[in-house]
Amino acid sequence: MHKKFNKVLSFRAVCAALAVVIAAFAMGAPLIASAIKDGARSPVVVIDPGHGGADSGVIGVRTGAKESDLNLKVARLLGEYLQSGGFKAVFTRTNDSMHSYPGIKDNKKRADMFYRGDVINSARPAAVISVHMNFYSSAARRGAQVFFDPTDPNSHDFADLTQEILNRDINVELGGREYSALGAEKYILSCSHYPAIIAECGFLSNPLDEAKLVDPAFQARLAYTLFQAVVIFLTSQEHSA
Ligand SMILES: [Zn+2]
Repeated sequence: MHKKFNKVLSFRAVCAALAVVIAAFAMGAPLIASAIKDGARSPVVVIDPGHGGADSGVIGVRTGAKESDLNLKVARLLGEYLQSGGFKAVFTRTNDSMHSYPGIKDNKKRADMFYRGDVINSARPAAVISVHMNFYSSAARRGAQVFFDPTDPNSHDFADLTQEILNRDINVELGGREYSALGAEKYILSCSHYPAIIAECGFLSNPLDEAKLVDPAFQARLAYTLFQAVVIFLTSQEHSA
């Protein structure tokens, strides 16, 4: 059954986990993973930079920035944070390309998605984050929004938590609004039974969001926010296990 994150509880979890994050970075040691899984293997997180190669995703209205490039940049930064914190980061792609898949010749996108699904399932991760940038017909829409497979309670929890942190750290300040995480039918969310979310990090259809999304400092801030979400989610799972 889906358990809703209580605001007070999640705030406590944020404080506790942030203390761990700060301590880990201050000491330059992989303390987070050991705090989460004492003596066990490093928790694996699959990072899925959306699109790539012929599939560039959406395009920034002002700069022409390709979503696929921005996704990869944020994904790499997230991977660096995770590795610094003692996690093992597994990427579904590390360059600007699409994967092929045995037996699928007529649909490159489908082949690429199947390949990614295989990466996720063979990594047996503690969590999966697919990084994307959004686009909407109304240029006014701004902010970061999270999606999950509505049939999976763990993914729903992970999505709610991530959305809450994105609202607090990004959306309220920049977009003046909060979002709720939304259920979505997407292959990357349903191809495994591991907790998985899509983080749409902002709107390339909005010039103000776009200016942020192409800025390396903001990309790092986004990545760090997602990193916090992973740490807090896995900590909360550990405590409820
Ligand atoms: Zn996308």
